[in-house]
Amino acid sequence: MTVITRFAPSPTGFLHVGGARTALFNWLFANHHKAYGEGGEFLLRIEDTDRNRSTKKAVDAIFDGLSWLGLNWDHDVIFQVSRVDRHLEAIEQLLTSGHAYRCYCSPEELAEMREQARAQGLPMMYNGKWRDRDPADAPAGVAPTIRLRSSKEGITKITDHVQGEISVKNETLDDMILLRSDGTPTYMLAVVVDDHDMAVTHVIRGDDHLTNAFRQTQLFEALGWNIPVFAHIPLIHAADGSKLSKRHGALGVEAYRDMGFLPDAICNYLLRLGWSHGDDEIISRDQAIEWFSLNTINKSAARFDVEKLTSINSEYIQSGDTEILAKLIMPLLQTSLKGRVSEYATERLNTGLASIKYRSKNLIELAEKSVFYAKNSPIDVDDKARKILTEDTLSRLRDILKGFADITDWQKDILDCWLNTYIENADIKMGEVAQPLRAALTGTTASPGITEVLSVLGKHESIRRLEDVTRV
Ligand code: GLU
Repeated sequence: MTVITRFAPSPTGFLHVGGARTALFNWLFANHHKAYGEGGEFLLRIEDTDRNRSTKKAVDAIFDGLSWLGLNWDHDVIFQVSRVDRHLEAIEQLLTSGHAYRCYCSPEELAEMREQARAQGLPMMYNGKWRDRDPADAPAGVAPTIRLRSSKEGITKITDHVQGEISVKNETLDDMILLRSDGTPTYMLAVVVDDHDMAVTHVIRGDDHLTNAFRQTQLFEALGWNIPVFAHIPLIHAADGSKLSKRHGALGVEAYRDMGFLPDAICNYLLRLGWSHGDDEIISRDQAIEWFSLNTINKSAARFDVEKLTSINSEYIQSGDTEILAKLIMPLLQTSLKGRVSEYATERLNTGLASIKYRSKNLIELAEKSVFYAKNSPIDVDDKARKILTEDTLSRLRDILKGFADITDWQKDILDCWLNTYIENADIKMGEVAQPLRAALTGTTASPGITEVLSVLGKHESIRRLEDVTRV
């Protein structure tokens, strides 16, 4: 069987970490079946029927966020609002089969039912006034709602792949509205019709939708359709167990992108947030696709821990391929240089990042620490570095520059050897040459070891930078 999953966000805000995790689990489950089963598809449906709250900006944020995380979807995106005719058709089918009926209760009557329930401390239950009434009694000029004629006896049971078997007594579920009096279908109806038409086999979503699953099951049954497998994942809480809010890191994924997190690190962290494979912490995307199953989703709420995410991010940076890292920081470097990075400079970056990556927790730091490789001479020299370039140190650099001109094999070990001999002959400490060299070559006072910098920059660029500062 081909597994078909879907991510069905309402475009009312950014793609936050909870939504991203739901998308990731659906993506992994579909891709697992694509690679190891009989097939899998991951579909994207934008639930934009609430026209007042849905925005284009939020839709774009969902597309951008998913694309940045590498959670590509199959087929065209489905916009729920475009399917209203089909939703109405399903309601018509329910009316014809007797599974739905028109309700002419006035807003005042409903308010009274709500008030009575409130006084008894009970949830609002529609009293079924129009369930068995002759439609001929309908008051003139009142636009009805259409409600599901749900069973009042027995139970509705769902077998949830995370939560197990759960049932509710049908008497606790009132006849829900399928069509509002303004003629718009409700969310509950639209979800069921769309999941059916999209042939969704597995509904994986946050457990805040668990109670909806009962009503949706009744609706699937009334329409005579197959019920998908449900897997309701526990929500993400803050580290202190409270509801996750912005303050705790429930930001949009683009905020993490802007803070220099790697998409793979975010996905790895979100995967571990609610799913496990033994004690494995660092799990590559390929391993995740291979290992992912619904059975190993945790039953208890996960806790969001920014520190853990940060540490996973550093691990991804440290083990990252330098050419890939260079590509990821390229936009940051271009912004900082206000221009493009030359081919030579890109080569220097590819080599230089091999050590700088071990000193960076995120891509912002990586870009800041390596920007001196991305520049071409002349480079900017910051104030601290400029203070180091005094008359004395500049004359020292002039002297070194002469010696450098004769080095033909510009290798780190040869440069080490040369500098050691130089300080021995001059009877000075390494710091006395390393700091001025660093200031001239990197424009800063902190960098990798100076002979590493010299070898990565290459002879030509190193000499040009030294000439720039020593020129009188
Ligand atoms: N649109 C719903 C939400 O954003 C999800 C509905 C579903 O997954 O069934 O919470």
